[in-house]
Amino acid sequence: MLLKKIKNDPQTIFWVTKCKYCGSLFIKFQNATKYCSPKCRGNSDLEHTEKRVRKHRKNHSKTDDYWGLGSGYLHGTPKNNFEEEHKAILRERRRLKLPAK
Ligand SMILES: [Zn+2]
Repeated sequence: MLLKKIKNDPQTIFWVTKCKYCGSLFIKFQNATKYCSPKCRGNSDLEHTEKRVRKHRKNHSKTDDYWGLGSGYLHGTPKNNFEEEHKAILRERRRLKLPAK
């Protein structure tokens, strides 16, 4: 709601609007203002970020296809030490209850 306008004085233009976050009435001097206080703006930003991150995590979560068949503790990059890698493979075989060679 545009309240008052004096000719050739842009500072006297102001509106009474509802805050987009808390819903309280406040006076704004710029059309782009959406929130009554920096606190409300910050909270709204946090909420928006939370929503965005949840959506991203949902879309980019590790599905069954990500790990290939099953899900093991052996990682994509092998250990540099051959004996450690061998131990890890044996441990994984034991975990999966595969017969030892
Ligand atoms: Zn507010």
